[in-house]
Amino acid sequence: MSLITMKFGGTSVGSPEAITNVVNIVQRELESGNQVIVVVSAMSGVTDALLAAASKAVHGNKWGYLSNAQNLRDRHEETINRLIPPGSNREKTVSQISSLLDEYVQLCQAINILGELTPRIMDAIVSFGERLSSRVVAAVMRERHISAEAYDAGEFIITDNSFQNANPQWDEIQVRVTKKLIPVIERGETPVITGFIGATREGAYTTLGRGGSDYSGAILAAATDSEELIVWTDVDGVMTTDPRLDDRAQVLPYVSYQEVGELAFYGAKVLHPKTVQPILDKNIPMRVRNTFNPDHPGTLIGATGEPSATVVKAVTSVRNVGLLTVGGRGMIGVPGIAGRAFLTAAKAGANILMISQASSEQSFCFVVMDDRARAVKNAIEDEFAQEIERRNIDRVELMDDVVIVTVVGAGMRGTPGVAGRVFTILGENNVNVVAIAQGASECSISFVIDEVNLEQAVMRLHDLALETVEVL
Ligand code: ADP
Ligand code: ASP
Ligand code: MG
Repeated sequence: MSLITMKFGGTSVGSPEAITNVVNIVQRELESGNQVIVVVSAMSGVTDALLAAASKAVHGNKWGYLSNAQNLRDRHEETINRLIPPGSNREKTVSQISSLLDEYVQLCQAINILGELTPRIMDAIVSFGERLSSRVVAAVMRERHISAEAYDAGEFIITDNSFQNANPQWDEIQVRVTKKLIPVIERGETPVITGFIGATREGAYTTLGRGGSDYSGAILAAATDSEELIVWTDVDGVMTTDPRLDDRAQVLPYVSYQEVGELAFYGAKVLHPKTVQPILDKNIPMRVRNTFNPDHPGTLIGATGEPSATVVKAVTSVRNVGLLTVGGRGMIGVPGIAGRAFLTAAKAGANILMISQASSEQSFCFVVMDDRARAVKNAIEDEFAQEIERRNIDRVELMDDVVIVTVVGAGMRGTPGVAGRVFTILGENNVNVVAIAQGASECSISFVIDEVNLEQAVMRLHDLALETVEVL
């Protein structure tokens, strides 16, 4: 008997038909003699709707958040009514949904009255999405005679108080999981746990960042020593590129932890960038599979690099970024300028996605998300006010109509000429490369290009990845 952690994404729990698939998948696993921990996202679109409603509340639009609450009530109740016949299970679930939504409206009212919306309150608001969906999914499972109950992840996933992007407190999580979750599984129950959310030690709701349910699944798989983590989504697996950008995208049968880490960090939405961290040390295999096509084996993710010397496995892109360049002749040989710049960026709340330095040391550049780019530019100008005045630094520039494109593949390591091929292709297609960086692991090359060239660059580099798939 094995323990499997299964995470189901927003589309996978987004309709009565999808939830039926979810329950079929879990039931089949239980019937084969395994035990399952289920982790669920909010129904598709709900997290966005909650964020929009919170913003309406803080701007005094009472009608906006009330109608949003009514929509949520209708959507969840309709799902319950479609899947659960009248009786005590239906009544219990409708009343759970109803009291959650009452609590939600009260919170919106408080936001409305106070006119204040902090990251902490935002996390409390978005927590309702997963709290609602988990109740519905657990109830549908009970209808199939699965002993299922919904749990708020805040009981197990303790985090720091970095609201909206909280960090797990591993020791405390292990204690809670051992004390509270393992006994549930040992009793033969199937817990249905909210993805995305956690709680501080004091009990305030936190979240793990957008798309964070994948990370929740991995945290719980690691803390329970699960045999496998399966991320069930709406595509057949991890693909050679975003299928919405190029419909020739193909499913990759195997990807290493390292490769998937790069893919997710550089924009492949299919997995949250932190997903592999918790399972890596314990070497827990992960699969990405399709809830709507459960017979497809999906993508296996594990520790070994791809044995064959493949060229490029996948191509990803990140939009909405800004490229900051700090330059000046007076920078040559002056230690610490880059360090100070990066520290300043961090203090301005920005994550650095990519760094590149010209060998002359006359300039370096780095990429941050658009929403912080202007603040970082201002902060750097303040930090280097003296150097700018002395003209040691003569430019701090921001380009914000750019994107990052990344090619990923462990086979690139030690294979000469891959970078050459990549840049030849870009050159042939008249794509101007603004900055380049190669991951230290040599398993990815990222570069910054103008946004207008995004699709063309991805399509042409994707040709390389498709050649590789044919060889596999
Ligand atoms: P979920 O709600 O199940 O977490 P997401 O929408 O977060 O699903 O992620 C799945 C989506 O990621 C797919 O529908 C696909 O459009 C997109 N995607 C982007 N890049 C890739 C890729 N390289 N492989 C697979 N899917 C990708
Ligand atoms: N519901 C959350 C989001 O939309 C988390 C997730 O789906 O993984 O970001
Ligand atoms: Mg997701």
